[in-house]
Amino acid sequence: MFWFVLVVLLFAMLILLAKVKLSLTRWLGLLVIADVILMLAGMSMPVVVLILLLIGAAGVLFATDALRLKWVSRPLRNYIRKSLPPMSDTEKAAIEAGTIWWDGELFRGNPDFSRLLTTPKPALSAAEQAFLDGPTDELCAMLDDWQISHDLRDLPPDVWTFIRRHRFFAMVIPAQYGGLEFSAHAHSRVLQKIASRSTAAAVTVMVPNSLGPAELLLAYGTKAQKDYYLPRLAAGDEIPCFALTGPTAGSDASAIPDTGIVCRGEFGGEEVLGIKLNWEKRYITLGPVATVLGLAFHAYDPEHLLGKHEDLGITCALIPTDMPGVEIGRRHDPLNIAFMNGPNSGKDVFIPLDHIIGGPAMIGKGWRMLVERLSIGRGISLPSLSVAAGKMCVDSSGAYARLRKQFHTSIGRFEGVEEALARMAGLTYLMDAGERLTVSALDTGEKPAVVTAIVKRYLTETMRQVVDDAMDVHGGRGICMGPSNYLGRLYQSVPVAITVEGANILTRSLMIFGQGAMRCHPYLQQEIAAARADGDDALQRFDTALMAHLAYTTANAARAMLYGIIGSLAPSPVAGSSARYYRQIARYSAATSAMADLALMALGGALKRKEAISGRFADAMAWMYLCSAVLKRFEDEGRQRSDEPLMHWACQHSLYQVQQALDGIIRNFPYRPVAWKMRVWAFPLGRRASPPDDKLMHQLAEILIEPSATRKRLVEGIYISADSDDLIGRLHHAMRMTIHTESIERKLKEQGQVHRPDQDYDEWLHGLVAAFMLNQAEADLLSKARLSIRQAVMVDDFSTETFTDRR
Ligand SMILES: Cc1cc2nc3c(=O)[nH]c(=O)nc-3n(C[C@H](O)[C@H](O)[C@H](O)COP(=O)(O)OP(=O)(O)OC[C@H]3O[C@@H](n4cnc5c(N)ncnc54)[C@H](O)[C@@H]3O)c2cc1C
Repeated sequence: MFWFVLVVLLFAMLILLAKVKLSLTRWLGLLVIADVILMLAGMSMPVVVLILLLIGAAGVLFATDALRLKWVSRPLRNYIRKSLPPMSDTEKAAIEAGTIWWDGELFRGNPDFSRLLTTPKPALSAAEQAFLDGPTDELCAMLDDWQISHDLRDLPPDVWTFIRRHRFFAMVIPAQYGGLEFSAHAHSRVLQKIASRSTAAAVTVMVPNSLGPAELLLAYGTKAQKDYYLPRLAAGDEIPCFALTGPTAGSDASAIPDTGIVCRGEFGGEEVLGIKLNWEKRYITLGPVATVLGLAFHAYDPEHLLGKHEDLGITCALIPTDMPGVEIGRRHDPLNIAFMNGPNSGKDVFIPLDHIIGGPAMIGKGWRMLVERLSIGRGISLPSLSVAAGKMCVDSSGAYARLRKQFHTSIGRFEGVEEALARMAGLTYLMDAGERLTVSALDTGEKPAVVTAIVKRYLTETMRQVVDDAMDVHGGRGICMGPSNYLGRLYQSVPVAITVEGANILTRSLMIFGQGAMRCHPYLQQEIAAARADGDDALQRFDTALMAHLAYTTANAARAMLYGIIGSLAPSPVAGSSARYYRQIARYSAATSAMADLALMALGGALKRKEAISGRFADAMAWMYLCSAVLKRFEDEGRQRSDEPLMHWACQHSLYQVQQALDGIIRNFPYRPVAWKMRVWAFPLGRRASPPDDKLMHQLAEILIEPSATRKRLVEGIYISADSDDLIGRLHHAMRMTIHTESIERKLKEQGQVHRPDQDYDEWLHGLVAAFMLNQAEADLLSKARLSIRQAVMVDDFSTETFTDRR
C-alpha cells in the first residue's frame, strides 16, 4: 500500500509540476500535503516529522522575502558576481546578435510545436524558378570541374563573364540597385545546383552573397555608399571580398592586430580627417581578383581627433584595391579547389572617414556588424554546399552501386554497402530538411544566430560522413583523379567547409551552447545582469529572476521525468507514425533544459572552459533541431508514404544522438551527485533510444539503387545532365541500362547461360541469338549496356610525361 501511494503521489506531483508552473511556495505546500499522505499511507511518524520540519524550514526561508533575500539571494548573488568570467564587448556582441526562434522553444524545455509547423514552407517565386531553370542550368552546363581545378586553376573567362552578366553575385542585393533580390530559399537552391557541379564555382558565387561588402552595406551603409557601390556590385563591375582573418588572428578574430590610426592626411588633393591603415590578412576568398576590399581593423584615436576615447574598437571599411600601399593578388592553394583565395596587406594606406562602412558613426561597431550579419550567410552558404554534396553523393553512389557488379551482384545489394548507402540517404534527407527549415526562418525575417551556427557545424560534419561513405562505395573509382572523377575534388574540399565561417570545433564546443544558453534562457541574462549591477534594486531583481528560475528548472525536471516514464503523456501536434518523435523531442527538450540549468548552477562560469560538456549540450540541441526539421519537412511534403523510411531513419538517428549526448554529459560531469540527479531526470527508466535498425537500412539502400519518386525528391535540386556523354549523365545512362538488362540477364542465367571471361562478348551474344535464346533487340541492348557500364566505371590514366607535367 505504501509503495502504491508513493508512486501515485509521485506521478500526481510530476504531472502538476510538468503541466503547471507552480510558484515555489505553492510547490513547497504541495510537498507538505504529500508528506501527510505518506504518513497516512504508513510511513513512520519520526521520518514524516523530520521531513515536515525540513520542508517547513525551507518553506519559511523561501516564502519570507526578508529571510530569502538575506540567506539565499544575497550570498548567491555575491558568489555569482565574484565567479562570473569577465565578458568582453566582442563576446557580448556575439551573445546579443540575432533573434531567438525555434531554438528558444527547444532550449526552454517546453516546445510549442505550432511555432515549428506554422513556419511557412519554402517556395520559389516564378522569377526565382526561371533563374534556376535558365541561367543556373546554363552555368552548370558550362562548368567542367577538372578543367577548372587542374587545367586552368581558375574559372574559365567565359564563366566569369556569365556569372557577372547574369548577376549571380547579386542574389542578396535589392532590385532597386539592380540586384536579383532573391529569398534565402532561392539563394540556397542556386548555390546547391552550382555546387553539385563545381565547388570552386559555388564558392566564387557564394562569397559576395554571404559575408561581403554588399551585406554590410545593405544593413549599415550610408546612402552615398549604397548608391555608389550596390549597383556596381550587382552588375559585377566590382568584385568584392571581405578580409578579417590574419596570420595571428584566426578563430579569435576579435584579436586582429591590424590598425587604423585616426589622423589628418591627403586624399584627392585635399587634407582631410581620415584613418591610416596597416594590415596583414590571409585566406581571403576572391581577394586575388577583388576590386574592393571590405577590411576589418582595430581603430585608435591617439590624438583625440574624434573624441575622448583612444581605443575605438573594431571597424569595417571599404578599400579600393588599387589604392597606393595595398598589396593584393597572390594566391593560396586551398586543397586544389581552384577558387580565388589569397593574402593581402596594406602599408600606411590612408582613407577618408567616409570609407568606413556606415560612415564615422560606425567606427568601433565593426564586430557587432560582422557578428549580426555573419549569422545570415552562415545559415545559407556552407549548409547549401553540404546539402548539394549529400545529394550529389547519394545520386552518384546509388547509381554506381547498382551498375557496379562484383561476385555477379550489384554491390548495392551487399549488406555492407547497404549500410553506407542507407546512412547517406538518411543523412542527406536530414541535411536537406535542416537547410529548408533554416532558410524558411530567414525568409520570415528571423536572424537566429544559434540555429545558423547549428546548421553550419552539423551539416558540414554530416556532409563529411556522407562524402566518406560515397568514397567507400566507389572504391578506386573515387580515388583516381582525372576528368572522369566526380568525387575526388569534393572529398578534398571537405576540410575547407569545416574550417571557414566559424571552425567547427570552436562552433560546437564554445559557441552553440554558450550562445544558446545565454540567449534562449528566460532568466539567466536577467540574473547575470542583476549580479553585475550595482544599485539598490539589483538584489531585488536578482531575487525575482532566481525564484522564477528555480520554478522553471523544477517544472522542466518534472516534465523530463514524467515523459521519460510515460512517453505518451508528452505532446504531439500530429497523429500517425511521426507522433512519437514529437513526443521524444518534448521529453529530451525538457531534460536538456533542466540538465543545462543544473550544469550552470554546479559549474557557473567554469562551464565555459568545460568544452567537452558544452559541446555535448550543443550536440543535444543540434540533433533536436535537425529532428524537428525532418518532421517539418515530412509534413510540408504532404506526408509521402514512400518517404516514411527516410523520415523514420533520420528521426531515430537524431534522437539516438541526443540520447548519447546527454548520456555523455552525465558520464563525464565532474560532480557525481549532480550527475546522478541528471540521470534520474533524463533517463528515469534508462537509455531506451536505439539507432535505426537493419530493416530501415534495407529500405533506404533500395531507395538509392532504384529509380522512384522518393529518390527523385531526395536528390531534387542538383544538376543532372541528360547528356550521356556528361560525367553524371553517363552514370545515369549506365544505371538505366543496367536496370533494363537485368531481366534479360536473369533469363539467360536461368537457362544456364553465363558469359565466360575467355569469350568475346559480342560473339557470345551472337551465338545466343542464333540459338533463339535471345532476340536481336535484347542482344543489342546487352551489348550497349556493357559498353555504357564500362564507360561509367573507367578511371583516367596518364602517360608519364603528362602525369609529371601535372601541377
Ligand atoms: C579556404 C579558406 C577561405 C577563407 N575565406 C576567408 C575570407 O574570405 N575572409 C576571412 O576573413 N577569412 C577567411 N578564412 C579564414 C577562416 O575563417 C579561418 O580559417 C577560421 O576562422 C579559422 O582560423 P584559423 O584557420 O587560423 O584556425 P585557428 O583559429 O588557428 O584554429 C585551429 C583549430 O583550433 C580550434 N579552436 C580555436 N580556438 C578554439 C577554442 N576556444 N575552443 C575550441 N576550439 C578552438 C578551431 O576550431 C580549429 O579547429 C578562410 C579560410 C580558408 C581556409
